[in-house]
Amino acid sequence: GVNFKGLLKRNWLLIATVLSVLLGISLGVVVREYASLSHLHKQYFGFPGEILMRMLKLVILPLIISSMITGVAALDSEVSGKIGLRAVVYYFSTTIIAVILGIILVMTIKPGVSQTAEHIDRAGTTPNVTTVDTLLDLLRNMFPENLVQACFQQVRGAARSSFSPLTECFLSRQNITKDYKIIGTYSDGINVLGLIVFCVAFGLVIGKMGEKGRILLEFFDALNEATMKLVQIIMCYMPIGILFLIAAKIIEVEDWEIFRKMGLYMVTVLSGLAIHSTICLPLIFFIIVRKNPYTFTLGMAQALVTALMISSSSATLPVTFRCAEENNRIDKRITRFVLPVGATINMDGTALYEAVAAIFIAQLNDYTLDVGQIVTISITATVASIGAAGVPNAGLVTMVIVLTAVGLPASDVTLIVAVDWLLDRFRTMINVLGDAYGASIVQKLSKRELERMDLTSDVDVANP
Ligand code: ASP
Repeated sequence: GVNFKGLLKRNWLLIATVLSVLLGISLGVVVREYASLSHLHKQYFGFPGEILMRMLKLVILPLIISSMITGVAALDSEVSGKIGLRAVVYYFSTTIIAVILGIILVMTIKPGVSQTAEHIDRAGTTPNVTTVDTLLDLLRNMFPENLVQACFQQVRGAARSSFSPLTECFLSRQNITKDYKIIGTYSDGINVLGLIVFCVAFGLVIGKMGEKGRILLEFFDALNEATMKLVQIIMCYMPIGILFLIAAKIIEVEDWEIFRKMGLYMVTVLSGLAIHSTICLPLIFFIIVRKNPYTFTLGMAQALVTALMISSSSATLPVTFRCAEENNRIDKRITRFVLPVGATINMDGTALYEAVAAIFIAQLNDYTLDVGQIVTISITATVASIGAAGVPNAGLVTMVIVLTAVGLPASDVTLIVAVDWLLDRFRTMINVLGDAYGASIVQKLSKRELERMDLTSDVDVANP
C-alpha cells in the first residue's frame, strides 16, 4: 500500500505551499469583502511576502556565480561546448514551437476581432525601437564593462526614452518603475546575462589551469554548497511568504471587470501555455529521455508553484535547482550549467505570450497581417523572449520590439497591461518548466560525455 506518512513527510513543504496559496486566496477575498484597508495597510499586509521576495533575490547572485563557474570548470572545454550547443538547440526549437503554437491559436480563436480597440482604453504615440537596437543592447549586456556594476541595475538611456509618456505612466503603475530597460538587464538589480558570459569564460580558464585553478574551483564549489543550504532555510519560510503575497495581490487589484472584457484573449494565452506544457514539451521529453514526463513535472511542483506566485524565473532559480537535483535527480554538472542560462534566455511561455499578444493587438486595430509580418512576429517574439529578463512583467516591456517590427503602435501595450499580472504568473511557470525539461534532455543527450568523465576524473568536484 501507499505509505501516506512517508509521502506526507517527503512532500510537507509542497503541501504547505499549496495550502498557503489556497489560504492566501481565501484570506485575500475575505479581507477584500469585509475590511476596507487603506493604501498603507495594504502595504503592511503584503510585508511578509515582500521579505520572501527579498530573500530569494538575495541568493541569486552567489548562486549564479558559483554554479556557473563550477559548472563550466568541472567539464573540459570540449564537453562544455557540446553541452552548451545542445542546450541552445533545445532552447531555440522549443521557443519556436511555442511561438508557432501561439500564432495558430490566436489566428483560430481570434480574440481581438469581435471587439475594437476603442472598447478598451488606449492612448499614446508610436515610439520607435528597432530590432537592431534590441540585438545590440542584448550584446552590450553580454559584455558588462564593470563586473561590480553588473551586479546592480543598469539602465540604458536610448532604449528607455523610446516610450511615450503615457506608456511610461502605465508601465510604472504596474510597478515597472523608472529603472526598467527594454532588454536584458531590466531586472531587479542584476545583469544576469553579463554575469553568465563572464562566469563561463572564467570557469573555462579555471578548468584549464590545472593544480593552481583547483583552489578557486574548490572555493566556488563550497560557495555553491553553502548557498544551497541557505536556500533550504529560505524555503521553510516560503509558505508564510506566499500566503501574504497572494492575499495582498488579491486585495490590491482594482479592476476585476477587465478580466471579463479581455476574457477571450486570456483564454487564448492560457490554453496555449497549457498545450505547450502538457503536450509539446512532454512529447519532446518522452521521445528523447524515455521517462514519464508527468512524473518529472510533478517533481518540479514546488518550483512551479513558486514561479506562479512570484512571476520571476530568476527568483525561482534556487527552487528550480533543488527540485531538479533532489527530486528529478538531474546531474549537478548539467543543472549548474544549464539552469541559470535557461532561466535567463529560455522562455517558452513568454515567447508564446508575445506572439499571441501582438496578433491580438493587430486584430483590435483591424490590421491585417501578411505572411511576411507573421514570420516577423515569430522571429521578434523569439528575440524578445530571449531578451526579457527573468523578472516580473519583463515580457510586457520587450513586447514593444514585436509591435514596432510590424508597424503596430508600441504604446498599445497599454491595452494588455491590466491583465498582465495574471498572465505573467502562468507564463513564468511555463518558462521554468521548459528550463527543467531542457536540463533533463541535455543530460540524456550528453550521457556518453558524462560517463567518460566519470571514468577519467580522479575526484569528482561536482558530485563529491
Ligand atoms: N516574468 C517572466 C519570467 O520571469 C518574464 C516575462 O515577463 O515574461 O520568466
